[in-house]
Amino acid sequence: MMIIRRENFGGILYDETTGDVSFVDKIFFRTLELIQKKIKNSLIKKRLETEFDSKIDINDLDACIYKFSENLLVRLNNYVEEKNNCINPITIIWIYTNICNLHCIHCARNCICYNDFELNLNEAKKVVDEFNEMGIFELRFSGGEPLLRLDNLLEIGKYANNLGFKLKIETNGLLASKVNSKRLYNAGFKYAQVSIEGSQRIHDIIRGRYTYEKAVEGINNLIDQKISVIIATTISNCNKEEIDNIIQIALKFGVTGIKFTRYMPIGKGLKNIDMFHISSTDEEKIKYTLLQAQDDYNKYLKITFNSFSENWECPAGRFLSCLMPTGEVTVCPTMGDLGINEGNIRSKKFRKLWSYGKLFNNIRDNGYISCSSCKGVSKKNINMFYQSYNKLLTIKDISNLTYLNN
Ligand code: SF4
Ligand code: SF4
Repeated sequence: MMIIRRENFGGILYDETTGDVSFVDKIFFRTLELIQKKIKNSLIKKRLETEFDSKIDINDLDACIYKFSENLLVRLNNYVEEKNNCINPITIIWIYTNICNLHCIHCARNCICYNDFELNLNEAKKVVDEFNEMGIFELRFSGGEPLLRLDNLLEIGKYANNLGFKLKIETNGLLASKVNSKRLYNAGFKYAQVSIEGSQRIHDIIRGRYTYEKAVEGINNLIDQKISVIIATTISNCNKEEIDNIIQIALKFGVTGIKFTRYMPIGKGLKNIDMFHISSTDEEKIKYTLLQAQDDYNKYLKITFNSFSENWECPAGRFLSCLMPTGEVTVCPTMGDLGINEGNIRSKKFRKLWSYGKLFNNIRDNGYISCSSCKGVSKKNINMFYQSYNKLLTIKDISNLTYLNN
């Protein structure tokens, strides 16, 4: 399904399956709007030519209609920002709970056993309403272990699903039983990410005994329920030789992709820095292996490793925001873990924090934060947003839609 959202420069076209994003100009956006309204082809041409006072090539238009007539949805956007350094987020990473059932020794979080102050259902629904009004496309529920708040999560999932969000769950897989997987699917979770650190021996060293078996069982249960699964792996010194094993696991179980991220020396993982730290020589080798793997398996798996790529321009603060379990709004989970946030939705609207908050604006204007642990943000990342503006796609670009990977 392709979903469009109006912006002051035209619109955003979002591929729900891949998460790919394209920025399109005003004519292209209007064309898509008219296609979605099932207006007749000849009328679309006439209307576009009148509204934009410009000739529309019938071949481009036909190609557009052919591509989009069956699978296009419009998301409302009540708050098209006038400032050109800010659009509403595309994705929210929602750290739904800090509670976890594991004690992984590389974990970037400082998970806890119990927290009374996490957002309750009413607060969660209220913020989902606001996300909806802003036209946000995707909610990723993460943790801790989000399935530890399953009943609450299912209710909020159903609520958000009815409003048209793409819903994804990020889990260690232990609680993804047959029954829970079915309940997740029925609540609208069609995408899941399960962590696998390597072969059974390595996975269990990092995540605890018998966790590999349970995670794999979880993957199978989710896939059986038609939930599309990707594997997430934190690459460190401990599992740098496991890349091929992970790919084979992914192929064997039929997951659709693997997301490799780097180990970050924060949270619990900081205590085990000697075990996990990757030397710069190894980092080069890992990068090469991942590039090669991407080439070799691109027909079967979507392999991403943004945080290893030199040119990675982190989307946090520009396309992505993070909501912490107790309501703090921040740039990304790492920043949240470091205690850096813009304010709390319990006292301010999310939209105000996102659009006018100092932290977000600093990032957008100056590329302010030095994310030494994640290495993604540099001064360069400011380019991403402006490049997207400068390369707005027109209906002539119909065969070249994918531009930004969210
Ligand atoms: S890595 Fe994930 S599963 Fe492991 S302790 Fe941290 S939050 Fe829990
Ligand atoms: S590069 Fe910085 S802002 Fe981006 S995800 Fe990493 S820590 Fe967060």
